[in-house]
Amino acid sequence: MKIIPLGIWGGYPKANSATSSFLIEHDGFHCLVDCGSGVLAALQNHITLEQLDAVMISHYHADHIADIGSLQYSRLIQYYLGQPSPVLPIYGHAQDEEQFSKLTYKEQTRGVEISEDQSVQIGPFTVTFCPTVHPVYCLAMKFTVADKSVVFTADTEWSDQLVSFTQQTNLLFSEANLYEEHIGKSPGHLGGSQAGKLAHDARVGQLVLTHLPHHGNIQDILYAAKTVFSGPTELAEVGKLYTL
Ligand SMILES: [Zn+2]
Repeated sequence: MKIIPLGIWGGYPKANSATSSFLIEHDGFHCLVDCGSGVLAALQNHITLEQLDAVMISHYHADHIADIGSLQYSRLIQYYLGQPSPVLPIYGHAQDEEQFSKLTYKEQTRGVEISEDQSVQIGPFTVTFCPTVHPVYCLAMKFTVADKSVVFTADTEWSDQLVSFTQQTNLLFSEANLYEEHIGKSPGHLGGSQAGKLAHDARVGQLVLTHLPHHGNIQDILYAAKTVFSGPTELAEVGKLYTL
């Protein structure tokens, strides 16, 4: 299993970058995890858009779905050019029916419903879900192949349920959108120390911090996580290859 961060920012991208998202690949099957602003441009540093086999959406905030429309246009344009691709499945929850309906587009993409209590098989990946604590309904995701797994928290506040869900995963991509002084003051997100506590309590193999803020010194968030979790910990780096 290979995972590449495509973007690391919360809310909106910095210049020439993207909001938090990932490309995950195994046996030639490529799945995009979240599709926010700038993600399509970043994705094409690694594969062509036609090579994409599936998309997984955690929730419907703009920094996780902003590029879905452009992805749908890319399939439609290739269709008009006489090079149609198979219908692209986009997995998302249906708690927000209007947003879920937008995942289906002109026989180019098809929305596929996911729910917190049902695992799905996506190519070689078994994917399970855990609801997070966020202003809108959002699902954390665990991708498993054989005895290896990776968890993406998506957006969340502290959640004991997430500790159980993340238990002993090999690799945890945790959001860490807050500086310590902002914990509890900005709903729906974690601070670095809380991401570290999640990694510690769940006894994960490695912690990578993402969905980072635009202000301040993000090294402070890394430092806060490392004070709680003693395992390998780093800030997500765009384009870096993680192999499990
Ligand atoms: Zn969000």
